[in-house]
Amino acid sequence: MKAGASKAEINKIIKELESKKFKPMPLFGVERTVIAVIGEERDLSTSHLEALPGVEKVMRVLQPYKLVSKEAKSEKTTIKLKNIEIGKNGVAAIAGPCAVESEEQMDQVGNKLKKLGVKIMRGGAYKPRTGPYSFQGLGKEGLKILKKTADKYGLSTVTEVIDIRDIDLIAENADILQIGARNMQNFELLKELGKIEKPVLLKRGPMATIEELLLAAEYILLHGNPQVILCERGIRTFEKETRNTLALATIPLVKELSHLPIIIDPSHGTGKKSLIEPMTKAAIAAGADGFMIETHPTPEKALSDAQQQLSLEEFEELIKNIEPLLNALNPSP
Ligand code: PEP
Ligand code: MN
Repeated sequence: MKAGASKAEINKIIKELESKKFKPMPLFGVERTVIAVIGEERDLSTSHLEALPGVEKVMRVLQPYKLVSKEAKSEKTTIKLKNIEIGKNGVAAIAGPCAVESEEQMDQVGNKLKKLGVKIMRGGAYKPRTGPYSFQGLGKEGLKILKKTADKYGLSTVTEVIDIRDIDLIAENADILQIGARNMQNFELLKELGKIEKPVLLKRGPMATIEELLLAAEYILLHGNPQVILCERGIRTFEKETRNTLALATIPLVKELSHLPIIIDPSHGTGKKSLIEPMTKAAIAAGADGFMIETHPTPEKALSDAQQQLSLEEFEELIKNIEPLLNALNPSP
């Protein structure tokens, strides 16, 4: 639509498309509205549509993903939380333990994040583990602890959903719902998360291509939820020195292809404490909209991912060390 097209003009186009059995999906931006049209391409008369008032131009999206593509919407998507807007400007920090283990553990984390000005806390209540005998998370109890801690320290939260049956409960207790790497192509889960009104953090599958990541995000948008944040967390390669191979080029590439924000997870991406800070810096330099790091008051006692979690002191050090880089890239006025 033209910049400044009226609501009536937008509604008229939507009605027109619906009457022709297309599925119109308006993408509302600050500057302009784009109406994505899903349906049989051959049945669409572009010249007829282009003649209607308020329409600037009609174009075909050539990528296999449509709604997430830059072609469909050039304006960046940002994710508004109560205390921060991801993708707006600056780099969003997300930190917390791999798993919520106890109230005391989370309280120490929340207290530290608040002091450091980190606005988003992570912590898994439902953990997808490689082996069935490993710690699977505290479930409901973990969600309660996460929420209680976040409320106390004024933080936003992100936690993983692994089962459709838990979506409502998690949406009531957390601000962002995470789809873990193992579930990136769990299409039924993606569709259900398309129906909620909370942001979704979609992690790249260890075997997935960037195109498959974007197609997975497309499912969520297609089912009605435009609030998706992508996350590069490393892929499986023949390299054995690191837990995964952190593909940093994903960041600028996704920015060329999509309007969605993208963050980096250098904890799962490397699995190695010493690599987390340099990879965080590299990701920031490459244009990441944020980073997510695992930190635990006593990493050696952690019930999951003990080897890669930074102590709270180590995390504080990282935050201090990246500050000059953040200032250099984003000088305050
Ligand atoms: C996590 O972030 O807690 C996690 C399990 O990561 P991933 O899904 O990327 O392995
Ligand atoms: Mn973990």
